Amino acid sequence: MTTGSSFETIHKPAVSEFDVAPNLDRNNVQEYDWQQMFDELDWLPGGGLNKAHEAIDRHANGPKRDKIAMIWEGKNGEREDYTFGDMKRETDKFANVLKSLGIQTGDRVFTFMDRLPEQYIAVFGILKAGAIAGPLFSAFGPDPVRDRMEDSGAKVLVTQPDLRRKITHIIPELFDLQHIIIVNKDGRDPMPIDSQDLDYYEEMGKAPANFTTVATSQYDYSIMHYTSGTTGKPKGAVHRHQAVVQQYATGKWALDLHEDDIYWCTADPGWVTGTSYGMLAPWTNGVTQLIFEGGFRASWWYEQIQKHKVTVWYTAPTAIRMLMKAGDEVPKRYDLSSLRFTASVGEPLNPEAVVWGKEAIGHAFHDNWWQTETGAIMCANYASTDIKPGSMGRPIPGIQLGVVDENFDPVPVGEDGNLVARPGWPSMFHTYWQNTEMYNSRFKKGWYITGDTARMDEDGYFWFVGRADDVINTAGHLVGPFEVESALIEHEAVAEAGVIGKPDPIAMEVVKAFVSLKDGYEETPQLRREIMQFARTKLSAAVAPREIDFIPGLPKTRSGKIMRRLLKARELGLPEGDTSTLEDD
Ligand code: AMP
Repeated sequence: MTTGSSFETIHKPAVSEFDVAPNLDRNNVQEYDWQQMFDELDWLPGGGLNKAHEAIDRHANGPKRDKIAMIWEGKNGEREDYTFGDMKRETDKFANVLKSLGIQTGDRVFTFMDRLPEQYIAVFGILKAGAIAGPLFSAFGPDPVRDRMEDSGAKVLVTQPDLRRKITHIIPELFDLQHIIIVNKDGRDPMPIDSQDLDYYEEMGKAPANFTTVATSQYDYSIMHYTSGTTGKPKGAVHRHQAVVQQYATGKWALDLHEDDIYWCTADPGWVTGTSYGMLAPWTNGVTQLIFEGGFRASWWYEQIQKHKVTVWYTAPTAIRMLMKAGDEVPKRYDLSSLRFTASVGEPLNPEAVVWGKEAIGHAFHDNWWQTETGAIMCANYASTDIKPGSMGRPIPGIQLGVVDENFDPVPVGEDGNLVARPGWPSMFHTYWQNTEMYNSRFKKGWYITGDTARMDEDGYFWFVGRADDVINTAGHLVGPFEVESALIEHEAVAEAGVIGKPDPIAMEVVKAFVSLKDGYEETPQLRREIMQFARTKLSAAVAPREIDFIPGLPKTRSGKIMRRLLKARELGLPEGDTSTLEDD
């Protein structure tokens, strides 16, 4: 039985000078009373709770009014700074824009744009207006955008000219969509804005600079993120305003945020990390954060840390592995001495990467675990506690995690099983949008079933084992095989498609498709390329298959379900396991 990796534990002083919560008894975390943290929030007059108020207005109305909330560096090297006071004014204006468009409490307003300041302003303006924000990943192709907008019934879309053009053909299919607001940042795009669309800057110019935040309650919905499952289209996990308490607390406990930090979260707001930790955790803690619009390049990233004197850095395993690949010489060219704390989430962080961080950039990465549905960090390696490289750490205060067997009964310490959590934590999702049945199916015997498999060691550290379902994790992005299969079979030559995650040394998994062709089509390299391109245009390069194999027919169960497990076993040359339900040829 092995519960850990062969890498040595990285020891920490009993109480680190940086530990923001030295008095928490981490051996007795389940006893934690969240009320203490709720009391630290500001609340709205009259007892309401609104994420935008906690993240922005409470600081703008106090001594942090002139403190920088956001340092934005654009992809062309532009820089804009926004104080909490600026953020209040801009988000108030945007809330007024939405009000003038008739947006009301509970309406869905989506954003589909790059990491521009306007996206951050829009999201908090949406929250102030009492609406539900739905940020979409800007790399998505038209199909994922349509599925999400259609399902949520979003009334307004805030986007930018190039992305607007990318999805033009799906707009007529979005019956609930009433307005499109275009952000043409610095006139970057030479084409005029479509006359039916609204110009963001024009609307903001007309809007009053004061808005009274809608008195949402802690139970009202605030943000939704779509996440993929094994079957069906992605589901919209909906969060409530009260999630903010856990985002605030874990900003302190798991990311060690302090008053004077310059914090950089590399996640895009299209994914839950980009909102919970790229918006809410730093700003509720009154911390300055860097938003870098540019993409990944090792030298650019180190340069960001050097230039902006980043102290706390939250990133993802694929990025860390790419930095490792770029070589140990690259970080030596930069002054990274500002860094104090580094953390990672989204995929398993291999122990080599944890240790590499310590050696190459002076800080071991603190891995933590959570998912869209949990809304905030659930399990972490803390600043003050020993890091076990390869482990996701221990549950945060107030959270009970468990490992259970197929009957949802606990397994002994050290054994693999389904990773589960005791429901009721503050940032727990409240539903899947219009899919209560799917939501209910995630709860068994008093546990929330995470969909991951894991084990717990004798010290209470959790170790990720895998996914219990067919969901693919590529570079930290969950991809539902069904979504990809649905796109592939729309190609005229494709009869059937089965999609799996193929292990990859950098991205953890890449999307691989097995395709059988309709009669009359020949398996040529050109057709393979054509199908690949077709999927990219519909889905995005991040989601579309990187590899396609032609096969005469897909293995299916007698009930007609594609046996992806078998496709994967065959791909990896592993035993095929139980094939008793396999359809006869
Ligand atoms: P998402 O809902 O898109 O944020 O993805 C959440 C999933 O990513 C989890 O259910 C895990 O499968 C995976 N994941 C997140 N954090 C970790 C981690 N620290 N170690 C291993 N897998 C992780």
